[in-house]
Amino acid sequence: MIADDKNAVAARASLVQYLSRRRLRKTPERFAILDCVMEMTRHFVADDLYNRMEDKGYHVSRTTVYNTIELLVSAGLLRRHNFGRTTAHYEMVSGLGSNHHHLVCTVCGKIKEVKDAQLASLLDKRTFPAFHPEWYDLCVYGVCSTCMRKTRRARQTSRTVHEE
Ligand SMILES: [Zn+2]
Ligand SMILES: [Zn+2]
Repeated sequence: MIADDKNAVAARASLVQYLSRRRLRKTPERFAILDCVMEMTRHFVADDLYNRMEDKGYHVSRTTVYNTIELLVSAGLLRRHNFGRTTAHYEMVSGLGSNHHHLVCTVCGKIKEVKDAQLASLLDKRTFPAFHPEWYDLCVYGVCSTCMRKTRRARQTSRTVHEE
C-alpha cells in the first residue's frame, strides 16, 4: 500500500484521535507499526508483523508490536479473527471494501477471501430486534484443493501398498 494514499492518511488520523482521547502517548513506534500493518497483505499473525518490522530494519520489541496490535484493535482500525484456531489473525478494517467471507482450510489453515454479493446483500438486509449490527465475520470451514489432492494421493499410495 502506498504510504500517502487516502486510507493510510485516514488510519493515521484515527490513531491520533484515539490516542488523544485516551491520553496515550503518540510514540513514533505506534505509527511505524501502523504503517507496517497497512503494508501487510490481508491477514497476518502478530509474528508476521514483528518479522516485517525487523526486515525493514525498524527494531521494536515483540511486546511493543503485540501491544500496539491490541491498541489498533481497540481503536477500530484492525480486526481480529480466530478462524477456529488459537493464533489470532488480523486485518485492516479500511480497504476491505464490502464485507467479505473467509474460507478456512482446517488442514493447513490457509485462508481464502471470497466475495459473494448475494450472501452479502442478504446479511446486510438482516435486522435483529434491539440490536444494531455493524459488521459480520463469516467463515466457511473445510478442506482446500491442495490438501484435498494430498489426502487423495496419500489414500491411493496406501491402497497400492496394501494391494501388493
Ligand atoms: Zn489446506
Ligand atoms: Zn478477511
